[in-house]
Amino acid sequence: MKIDIITIFPNIFNSFLKESLLARAQKKKLIKINTHNLRKWTDDNHKTVDGRPYGGGAGMVLKIEPIFRAVKSLTLRQAQGRRSKTRVVLLSAKGKTFDQKKAARLSKYDQIIFICGRYEGVDERVATYVADEEISIGNYVLFGGEVPAMVIVEAVSRLIPGVVAKEESVKNESFTKNTAKEHPHYTRPEVFEIKEKSFGKLRTKKLRVPIVLLSGNHKKIEEWRAKNSK
Ligand code: SAM
Repeated sequence: MKIDIITIFPNIFNSFLKESLLARAQKKKLIKINTHNLRKWTDDNHKTVDGRPYGGGAGMVLKIEPIFRAVKSLTLRQAQGRRSKTRVVLLSAKGKTFDQKKAARLSKYDQIIFICGRYEGVDERVATYVADEEISIGNYVLFGGEVPAMVIVEAVSRLIPGVVAKEESVKNESFTKNTAKEHPHYTRPEVFEIKEKSFGKLRTKKLRVPIVLLSGNHKKIEEWRAKNSK
């Protein structure tokens, strides 16, 4: 999968793309992620990407022209002898809310192009004519589309075969099966002790791993896990 991120602040992505599983996935050529400075597609000396809103109002609005050119030049023409499947996603607080289902759908494309808004937002014609869909990561307003793009890149990347070494862990995760949330996990130690002062006395609280998980009885463990997935 190829992921192209159009932004006016490409440096925000520097360490995000160079650490951990995303770095490994890129090294293994499972995903190719590039960030692109929108100013590259401007045509004036000041590299203007924004303008005042028609009708007045606070804040500046990202212009359609550089975004249109950026998307046009980044869109893959062909993949393996067929028309490549590209999805253009505009990050927008007023878009449809992102969830695991959308992540699964997006993971099937050959290419995703993200358009990160800033300031007051993006000229509406980008939503209407350039983007295939508008996605929000939740009902709150952020400074820009960069963090939402990172959220979606992570969720989608984990679903690409080979990115997460143990595919089993992706298949059984929260929101994947019948919208159930995954069962709780525990690791060593079996008992974790916390010393607490209560009414002037020092008490020891013992936090134990559920005994069934230590039993080695796989049937019982499965039953416990099913019961504790909600
Ligand atoms: N005036 C806009 C509004 O009221 O919806 C908010 C603009 S916001 C300050 C600037 C940019 O951040 C947006 O164009 C969008 O790309 C991004 N953004 C902010 N919140 C977002 C969210 N919850 N999900 C996705 N993108 C978001």
